[in-house]
Amino acid sequence: MSVETAVAEVVTLASELIAIDTTNTGDPAAPGTERAAAEYVAAKLSEVGYEPVYVESGAPGRGNVIARLPGADPARGALLIHGHLDVVPADPAEWSVHPFSGEVRDGYVWGRGAVDMKDMVAMTLAVARSFKRDGVVPPRDLIFAFLADEEAGGFYGARWLVDNRPELFEGATEAISEVGGFSVTLADDVRAYLVETAEKGVMWLRLTARGTAGHGSMLHEDNAVAKLAAAITRLEQHRFPLVLTDPVRELLTGVAEVTGVPFDPDDPEAAVARLGNLSRMIGATLRDTANVTMFEAGYKANVVPSVARATVDGRMLPGREKEFEAELAEILGPEIIREWDSLPPVRTTFDGALVEAMATAVTAEDPGARLLPYMLSAGTDAKSFQRLGVRHFGFSPLKLPPDLDFTALFHGVDERVPVEALEFGTRVLDRFLRAC
Ligand SMILES: [Zn+2]
Repeated sequence: MSVETAVAEVVTLASELIAIDTTNTGDPAAPGTERAAAEYVAAKLSEVGYEPVYVESGAPGRGNVIARLPGADPARGALLIHGHLDVVPADPAEWSVHPFSGEVRDGYVWGRGAVDMKDMVAMTLAVARSFKRDGVVPPRDLIFAFLADEEAGGFYGARWLVDNRPELFEGATEAISEVGGFSVTLADDVRAYLVETAEKGVMWLRLTARGTAGHGSMLHEDNAVAKLAAAITRLEQHRFPLVLTDPVRELLTGVAEVTGVPFDPDDPEAAVARLGNLSRMIGATLRDTANVTMFEAGYKANVVPSVARATVDGRMLPGREKEFEAELAEILGPEIIREWDSLPPVRTTFDGALVEAMATAVTAEDPGARLLPYMLSAGTDAKSFQRLGVRHFGFSPLKLPPDLDFTALFHGVDERVPVEALEFGTRVLDRFLRAC
């Protein structure tokens, strides 16, 4: 009964959240943009009787909101449901609709954050509000957290809160959040819902090469730009070793069972290639990766500069942290200075009562569906919360049309989420949180 009030407002909530521009450029000196969205969320929670806590995490404007709904059994650990309020930048000139319009058109809610992740923020908010209004007592404490700065590593969001305000998450033993729970159509009207059980680790490297400055017209043997370019080329040509981890094996085995196309564990790349659009992301979970993303050097055509710099986005599989670092050092060579920020991989197993509750909730709304684990090639705030000993799952349920290239929408142009998917996700989340 009560889920209908949540379903009725989820689209408006998503649309209004998207219309609040919370662009996170990643520049720590830039003013925080999350405050208005956090205040919006806090007002929506207060309106129905919550007493939300508003916290700015380390810098002005970096707004976070945390609220708790007491459960029937205080002895059980709490479930943390967290979502981030910030979004990556969007250039309106590239979009079909304004990225901060939140426009509802052709059965979709459009705008930056529609899938990453104001969709889940809206679903969470809608269910939290209906639970409070209806006096629902969930089986265990629920902690709702709406966070800043996920898109730049959570240094002014989850990471800061875990370091400075851990009491806000006291008792949490498990968590759900983004980039999981979405459907992939594997056969006619047969869907798998991919639950994130692992994340690669992050190593954002700043590389520096030094050489001898001089006149560009003369003979020159110690050119910083050439040295760095050569090192980067070696890195781009390097293939890190293939490692078949548990979540990837379980995913590919599950897909094989559903499709009837056998999976050869000696050739996981062939099985990944059959996944269509999804292969871009799943393919990146078969091995470590290191992509150069920024390069800067020089200031004048006839001056050889003494220094060149590059940034590399490195991602390593769980258990590969040490090996990844050693391999990078060897490929880049001793002349390249390496400095980095890193965030650890995340992993848990795909089993237990919480996973069963996810499966029950999904199949109640999509009979015949199958839940499968997977590893995210990117990172989320799960990296911060695992430091509190919280077991983490990516579970933001969405039933998607078979032809939608969902993973391309993340940080992409014309990011949008189907209205029906939001309504479906709200129903699943309602069932799940009543049974968790
Ligand atoms: Zn996200």
